[in-house]
Amino acid sequence: MSHEETSATDRTGLDFVRTAVAEDRAAGKNDGRVHTRFPPEPNGYLHIGHAKSIVLNFGIAEDFGGVCNLRFDDTNPTREEVEYVDSIQNDIRWLGYDWEDRLFYASDYFEQLYAWAEHLIREGHAYVDELSAEEIREYRGTPTEPGRNSPWRDRPIEESLDLFHRMRAGEFADGALILRAKIDMAHPNINMRDPALYRIRHAHHHRTGDTWCIYPTYDFAHGQSDAIEGITHSICTLEFENHRPLYEWLIDHLPVPSTPRQIEFARLNLTYTVMSKRKLLRLVQEGFVDGWDDPRMPTISGLRRRGYTPEAIKAFCRRIGVSKTNSTVDLALLEFSLREDLNPRAHRYMAVTDPVKLTVTNWPEGQVDWFEAENNPEDPTAGTHSVPFTGSLYVEREDYMDDPPRKWFRLGIGREVRLKYAYFVSCTDVVRDADGTVTEILCTYDPETRGGDSPDGRKVKGTLHWVSRDHGVPAEFRLYEPLFTQEDPDDIGPDADFTDGLNPQSRTVLQGVIEPALAEAAPENPVQFLRLGYYVNDARDSSPDRLVFNRAVTLKDSWARVVRNRRENE
Ligand code: ATP
Ligand code: MG
Repeated sequence: MSHEETSATDRTGLDFVRTAVAEDRAAGKNDGRVHTRFPPEPNGYLHIGHAKSIVLNFGIAEDFGGVCNLRFDDTNPTREEVEYVDSIQNDIRWLGYDWEDRLFYASDYFEQLYAWAEHLIREGHAYVDELSAEEIREYRGTPTEPGRNSPWRDRPIEESLDLFHRMRAGEFADGALILRAKIDMAHPNINMRDPALYRIRHAHHHRTGDTWCIYPTYDFAHGQSDAIEGITHSICTLEFENHRPLYEWLIDHLPVPSTPRQIEFARLNLTYTVMSKRKLLRLVQEGFVDGWDDPRMPTISGLRRRGYTPEAIKAFCRRIGVSKTNSTVDLALLEFSLREDLNPRAHRYMAVTDPVKLTVTNWPEGQVDWFEAENNPEDPTAGTHSVPFTGSLYVEREDYMDDPPRKWFRLGIGREVRLKYAYFVSCTDVVRDADGTVTEILCTYDPETRGGDSPDGRKVKGTLHWVSRDHGVPAEFRLYEPLFTQEDPDDIGPDADFTDGLNPQSRTVLQGVIEPALAEAAPENPVQFLRLGYYVNDARDSSPDRLVFNRAVTLKDSWARVVRNRRENE
């Protein structure tokens, strides 16, 4: 799916959410104030889909001179954990957004929400029902048939109030009673057929402890929390579109201090990626990945460890834009956004990830030549660093081939190549072990080609990277491929589990070497290894004694391929 298709902007260049916000301001709603919120449920780590929502909510506040709250939507006591509360805050800060002193929890409003539930009962707009969950389902009807009224629907207000108080006091078991809004059991929108407002749940809550044994539903908590915080625009994903009439009904029927407006946008889906927190949790719990921040995970912390930058993630979110129809974005576009961010600023180094020895047989014993390497050819101010060249080198194993075809521009017996920054070398022979595997490539060098140019105008097509065996520093390289082999990992068939589609080759670990200047610099930011890709020091496992690099992304632009294929198919 192209981003042209997924983002819809109007004549003013605003997306439809910003257009709505601009119209509300022009109409003088909320005195022109813009106040948004990002409302994660603390039941998992944030992922790239959440980033889309964060960039939208904080971005709209920024664009219109407003503010954005962080609110933990912690109405569901059993699934929530403090670890998630902490990680979510870290991730949003890392993305570069600031909620200042506006950190809230829906659970802070439990007392107020309870009072408003009583208010609805007193006004005849809510009742305590004694039907079982199954009966409620039965009575609800279907999209084509109206529902039926519960026999408890018209019970006296005083009776509902009394039962609701006793629900709170803990007199009833889970599921025995439920508080429902009294709206319309024949409403064409099923969400309006007397929806649940409060459920009994004898469960410990991470903030309120055992104070409560009844908890508000999402529908009852969310809009009212928005109103309490003075949220002007409550931006959520499309699956809540059918809940909007209920959102508005509750705001209309309660003495809330403000009237927020709900606007829905399409959630982000990415090819080769699962985004449901339930599925991500299974990957972690069942050991398919090494935790929420495994560099193969689509979580913010995983992407960060992988080498993604906040700038690349934000640029991606802006590029895909927002729309009203669900679609799937190509993973290649995310990778493209990272390359685009890193190319002008990542420093270049040489590393050999799958080393084989290359020996220059006519190299003067003990000589070391130092070459100046540009840190970034895209940025003249980035400076240079020195690279030592000797007669004992490592090169990539895949840069040598026996009996290569004519158009092979790398090493083969009788072939000449340029070693980056240094000299032309010609391959004369190879040494093999008992199995015939090449263990050493023998070359001669031409001293006249110092710096990588030949004085007689002789051309070579291939330029290879290399590292001096006398100076190179050992390093581990972790190469990643998508976690799933299928473009849509959820489309796996009725008898299969989504984990059946996991890619067994999603991680390859190689032992190699890096040039010494990089080991000294130990940068936290991603670097480019010439010809290989962008890599970053692994934040968890890398140490000065044992360097570990994650491959963030290769240099090949597969997004260009996607665009080309699409054009060809059109
Ligand atoms: P899940 O269904 O996997 O549990 P969720 O939507 O319930 O995810 P929340 O923690 O409730 O997760 O999400 C917080 C905010 O982020 C919500 O406003 C939600 O709409 C938004 N969000 C979640 N996933 C995506 C996504 N894939 N694309 C865009 N926004 C998302
Ligand atoms: Mg949710």
